[in-house]
Amino acid sequence: MQGMKPTEDRELLNEEKDRRMHERFMRQAIELARRSVDQGGGPFGAVIVKDGQVVATGHNRVVPSCDPTAHAEVTAIRAAAEALGSFDLSGCEIYTSCEPCPMCLGAIYWARIDRMYYGCDQQDAARIGFDDSFIYREIALDPAQRRLRSCRLLADEAREAFRAWEAKPDKTEY
Ligand SMILES: [Zn+2]
Repeated sequence: MQGMKPTEDRELLNEEKDRRMHERFMRQAIELARRSVDQGGGPFGAVIVKDGQVVATGHNRVVPSCDPTAHAEVTAIRAAAEALGSFDLSGCEIYTSCEPCPMCLGAIYWARIDRMYYGCDQQDAARIGFDDSFIYREIALDPAQRRLRSCRLLADEAREAFRAWEAKPDKTEY
């Protein structure tokens, strides 16, 4: 058994009425995960909420969409951004049936989502063959030690796009 993670923020569930609301949204994410299994996707669902209202939902569509990035959280973030007409999801909360993989966690940060609630954790996912914990371990390694072989190439030429960005006066920063 894994112990309580230090990253957990119990203050998010302080009030009993808040807990019931959060559990309602989490049950919706879990139901999406269950239905995803019936539809040929992985057992993952996510719900994005703003001001107590569901903005968007998503479920895993990696296999049916032939899209390795079609994780529940990414799918929900894309739908929420479209629904709100903004790449900035500040003020939103995400309920995900499983602790996000590094890609989805990164997407949650990029989207500036304020809070996250999750059901299963990395170890639960690893036990059924979704080894996100492997990627978390890889990220912590020096690039030369990772399983993914990588090599830097044409750094000066690559920086030209950065120079163009820096010089652009009317850019939308994000
Ligand atoms: Zn993911």
